[in-house]
Amino acid sequence: MSQSILEKIEALRAELHQHNFDYYVEDNATVSDFEFDLKLKQLQDLEKNYPQFYDPNSPTLRVGGEITKNFPTIHHQFRMYSLDNSYDFDDLEDWEKRIIKTIDEPVEFVAELKYDGASISIFYENGKLKQAVTRGDGFQGDEITANVKTISDIPLKLKGDFPPQFFMRGEIYLTRKNFDKINSLREEEGLDLFMNPRNTASGSLKMQDSAEVRKRGLSAVLYQFISSDTPAETHWELLQDAKKWGFKVSNQAKLCKNLDEIKDFITFWDEHRHELPFEIDGIVLKVNSIKQQSQLGYTAKSPRWAMAYKFKAEKVETELVTVTYQVGRTGAITPVANLKPVLLAGTIVKRASLHNEDIIKKLGLHDHDFVFVEKGGEIIPKIVGINLEKRDANSQEIEYITNCPECGTELVRIEDQAIHFCPNDLHCPPQVVGRMIHYVSRKALDIEGLGAETIEQLYRAKLVENPADFYILTKEQLLPLERMAEKSAQNILDGVENSKQIPYEKVLFGIGIKHVGETVAKKLAKNFNSIDDLKNATAEELIQVEDIGGKIAESIVNFFQNPENILMIERLKSYGVQLEKGENTNEVLSSILENKTFLFTGKLSLFTREAAEEMVEKHGGKNISAVSKNLNYLIVGEKAGSKLKKAQDIGSIQILDEQEFLDLIKE
Ligand code: AMP
Ligand code: ZN
Repeated sequence: MSQSILEKIEALRAELHQHNFDYYVEDNATVSDFEFDLKLKQLQDLEKNYPQFYDPNSPTLRVGGEITKNFPTIHHQFRMYSLDNSYDFDDLEDWEKRIIKTIDEPVEFVAELKYDGASISIFYENGKLKQAVTRGDGFQGDEITANVKTISDIPLKLKGDFPPQFFMRGEIYLTRKNFDKINSLREEEGLDLFMNPRNTASGSLKMQDSAEVRKRGLSAVLYQFISSDTPAETHWELLQDAKKWGFKVSNQAKLCKNLDEIKDFITFWDEHRHELPFEIDGIVLKVNSIKQQSQLGYTAKSPRWAMAYKFKAEKVETELVTVTYQVGRTGAITPVANLKPVLLAGTIVKRASLHNEDIIKKLGLHDHDFVFVEKGGEIIPKIVGINLEKRDANSQEIEYITNCPECGTELVRIEDQAIHFCPNDLHCPPQVVGRMIHYVSRKALDIEGLGAETIEQLYRAKLVENPADFYILTKEQLLPLERMAEKSAQNILDGVENSKQIPYEKVLFGIGIKHVGETVAKKLAKNFNSIDDLKNATAEELIQVEDIGGKIAESIVNFFQNPENILMIERLKSYGVQLEKGENTNEVLSSILENKTFLFTGKLSLFTREAAEEMVEKHGGKNISAVSKNLNYLIVGEKAGSKLKKAQDIGSIQILDEQEFLDLIKE
């Protein structure tokens, strides 16, 4: 008996640890919050009833996952606790009863929205933002000050009568509008789309380049003042004070005198949450009096004075019409369930993702089944179950396709992967288009004016089929296209012309040899002076190059065995595209900057940032992306901002203007 309980506890712990890892470290949730919380609760109950199986590392005692290495780890002076969850009003009544047992005076509450983003702790000293740290595992998190400073909702300097030292906690999130904007840009560039605003927000906070963070358009709200010496008696007053000091505090927070007012608040927002411009996944309730809060204290995992109320993921039933299959730009196949339109979480849903063959099999989906559809944090809802009572006895189980719906080629499924691919990368339409989109993208040939949509149009009009065709486009061919004016057509022609100056290594990346990413392309360019040298290299020779393994070598050899690729390359050469090392690639001019690191900031006027970084490399120096003690030189242009300040604070960094940088090289 107790053996099987222990097994159950251990299985739950292992599963929750994995989900935590997926969620916090990989930023890639694999189960819905609701499922996760149910499992956690199951485990909590078992642990309570069987205290002999206590484990200090149980997921019930930890908030989240491990620490990612890229940012310095900071110990939280005040632990960042998790919140206990409740799912119905009974849970809330129990909570209130427990409170009343400890506190024998009236208790007030503050009800707040539970923002679905990434939590943050920010330290302010003498009215200035000093340090921002992620929650991490609750005990320690990542220092991401530079990134947080890019978020305009967060004050860098306070006003009014603020305490000299304190922490503000809050949530960083993305509005739905900005999330959609990011995804449409990514679609333009042919990149994978992000799953949901929450993961995108927390992923953005861990980007290396804070300028990129800024572009994400993150929002923030602050909801908790923390200090050992609290200047007010209630949480509510602290929120009002924080607002006066310049913090963005939620406008929806409400002071509630009793449970009934709390229930009204919850009911209201459960119904109206889809009208908010951002996502919330519940309500947070906090005991208002700071004195009562400290009387109630904390459990191993969460404050007793606070409680989250989680909204149920909304679920509806609808009929499956068909299953269709989309072919991505890399040839990956995604099955999609087309549904009878149904209202779910404020939007009309017509499609649900089925992910892959295994998931369809696991569901046991039949044609015209009635399915339950749930919307978690993801933009595309998913099928979570089937109403078997409504199944037609004559219905057939859905059979996964064997051939590509776009080109008819037999699909392959790579061992150990759940996903099917169409192997016809040279002639399968979405893949042909994907390859051209890759060729013009910013990190490759950077052809401005040629977006994904234009390329699709050109392909449909049979004007382009591979990157070489861009170079023979004429204005007469472009003008009849949709939404194409004289100016945009000229823009494209200029962009194509300018791409002939793009260095060899970027062209190598752009022609889309499988497994040859940016870094590998650079290495190849360094070791093989021209594409002809690369073409003639054997797999054995290729493997000699640092970082190039058997898989990449094989893919390169295969690429050059295909006559169509050879023809494309010969054509690119004839149009003047850089297919060998030119004057402006990789050559070493001096080693004068050896072992020195550089960073450029602000608006440069004597040269572009790219050219400057190239100069650094040619003289043996190294470009790095952030100000730290490892930085030797910061070169500042006009309007340099936080980087300059940070460099001055560190003190050991030499700060130069553009002319001084040039002088340094001249020496
Ligand atoms: P959980 O992640 O389910 O343990 O819930 C705790 C998290 O809720 C905190 O770490 C915060 O990131 C988040 N949260 C969102 N809104 C609030 C709020 N108004 N007050 C406190 N925590 C909040
Ligand atoms: Zn195909």
